[in-house]
Amino acid sequence: MPNPAAHLPFYYGSISRSDAEEHLKLAGMQDGLFLLRQCLRNLGGYVLSVVHKLQFYHYPIERQMNGTFAIAGGKAHCGPEELCEFYSKDSDGLCCTLRKPCNRPDGLDPQPGIFDNIRDNMVREYIRQTWKLEGESLELAIISQAPQVEKLLATTAHEKMPWYHGCITREQAESRLYSGSQPDGKFLLRQRQEKSSYALSLIYGKTVYHYRIRQDKAGKYSVEEGTKFDTLWQLVEYLKLKPDGLIYYLKESTPNPDVPSAAMAPALPAHPSVSAPQKFMSQNSDGYTPEPIGIGKKTRILPMDTSCYESPYSDPEELKDRKLFLKRDHLIIDEVELGAGNFGSVRKGVYRMRKKQIDVAVKMLKGGNGKAERDDMMKEAQLMHQLDNPYIVRVIGVCDAEALMLVMEMASAGPLNKFLYTKRDEVPVNNVVELMHQVAIGMKYLEEKNFVHRDLAARNVLLVNQHYAKISDFGLSKALAADDSYYLAKTTGKWPLKWYAPECILFRKFSSKSDVWSYGVTMWEAFSYGQKPYKKMKGPEVMAFIEGGKRMECPPRCPPEMYKLMQLCWTFKWEDRPDFAAVETLIRTYYYSIAVKVEENLEDGVKITPA
Ligand code: ADP
Ligand code: MG
Repeated sequence: MPNPAAHLPFYYGSISRSDAEEHLKLAGMQDGLFLLRQCLRNLGGYVLSVVHKLQFYHYPIERQMNGTFAIAGGKAHCGPEELCEFYSKDSDGLCCTLRKPCNRPDGLDPQPGIFDNIRDNMVREYIRQTWKLEGESLELAIISQAPQVEKLLATTAHEKMPWYHGCITREQAESRLYSGSQPDGKFLLRQRQEKSSYALSLIYGKTVYHYRIRQDKAGKYSVEEGTKFDTLWQLVEYLKLKPDGLIYYLKESTPNPDVPSAAMAPALPAHPSVSAPQKFMSQNSDGYTPEPIGIGKKTRILPMDTSCYESPYSDPEELKDRKLFLKRDHLIIDEVELGAGNFGSVRKGVYRMRKKQIDVAVKMLKGGNGKAERDDMMKEAQLMHQLDNPYIVRVIGVCDAEALMLVMEMASAGPLNKFLYTKRDEVPVNNVVELMHQVAIGMKYLEEKNFVHRDLAARNVLLVNQHYAKISDFGLSKALAADDSYYLAKTTGKWPLKWYAPECILFRKFSSKSDVWSYGVTMWEAFSYGQKPYKKMKGPEVMAFIEGGKRMECPPRCPPEMYKLMQLCWTFKWEDRPDFAAVETLIRTYYYSIAVKVEENLEDGVKITPA
């Protein structure tokens, strides 16, 4: 995850408070001299250290839910740099304005945090091993889930630390600490017999002291009434710098005799929901597993936990049997209707493969339909058959029996617009960003393959669960020839005009750039939680509205960054409009910046006070 302070010359990375004060002293102690460092307590947070009248003041900067940064009780800013700029003009509650940055001496790089340098590799290794992914599936899983996996790792990373001894008794802890030399500060962390509670055992003056680690309602850890941290490893790192109520600070860890010394070896902590992923896939469309053991927080099921992340044919055994036409006796069709369209209805079903059964959606052509409709469905099937991406509904095949049927992967939580409308009070806006990022990943893939969708809309984004979206409905889609950049429709048809770019309507020209326009409208639908775009207007009126330079307004709960992106997608001239590669990067950057604090709450009622 990019660190938005990394480029600042006055950013020191993960240094202690006393080191910060040392740097400020060396730089002369003028009023308003300041530096920025990483906060050891909050993931993604910083501390601003300032000199005023020869005193030091340290202000924690938190990264908030919406991705902004603020000193508790102060105004929010879009990044640490902007925040410092603001306080250089207005002290707004600080001891004084920031006057002179205390820049790092030549040759001194920001100090990497304990977790920073290992985290990218850990994320990759963790995804590879946990979900057994390789190649493109692995890369896409990293792109779409890095923040979630990082968080998962952050909360379980202590299990990999040499000082963590797992579930041992108090007596065992003492005997491990007393064995060998007994310097002050030698310590270990263990899990107590009562699940989910931890203890710290520490030697001082040849005596072992035990401290219980508390966890508050929000899941934050502290020793007694001490400073609270998001994770155990942060707590330990902090206590190495400062005793914070302990009899001595933590110095040297007693390595766990049960763990080989290579600390970051491949054996990674287990993902809590991975043991039984399939179980939740069909029954639990809200995407949450029941309360996992031990932790007071809910663990989220990730796209990779579902059986439709990878193609059902990713198994070479299954691939042997892959054909476009499916055998009727391998297909069971349920009475349950998932949806309906002009062509007929979509029903729930189960398809039996060589080694497994999969849940499917069966799009059935109405009886009595003529050749034209059959041809259309076959075209849709053939086109979808060429696509394989976790964020696109895959087609399993077609079955020609009581009707012509298109058999697809099942996305049981239904269309995005309906889902968001009915769950508008439960789904946080970060969640919408996450889903729209996935849509961007899927569309970027289509763009790379030179396919135009031509019907991208919230109604055609289907959800597997609350945190997993797939693009569907390729009824109007076209595969472009390698050297074509657009599809020219011969005639106009029954078109979703409100989703169409000006060049589609004016010149019948369809390209990935016109899909980008539709993506903007889809974003608007999503961030307005399923409202209809251009509310009272008719299709043709919309064109006049657009040509008059007007655009839809920012939906009430939509972050300004996301409204900006929508507006960019609604660039009139397609040549000037971003492509999906650019759109995906933009939304990813924003998504990563807010994901750190997703689902967390700020402690309320804190006034500006030096830490
Ligand atoms: P149309 O071309 O008529 O818009 P769609 O392909 O969008 O047809 O399907 C219509 C409806 O059927 C969708 O809105 C959805 O409710 C349901 N549906 C379609 N495909 C699936 C699927 N793969 N999984 C679950 N439901 C589906
Ligand atoms: Mg549709």
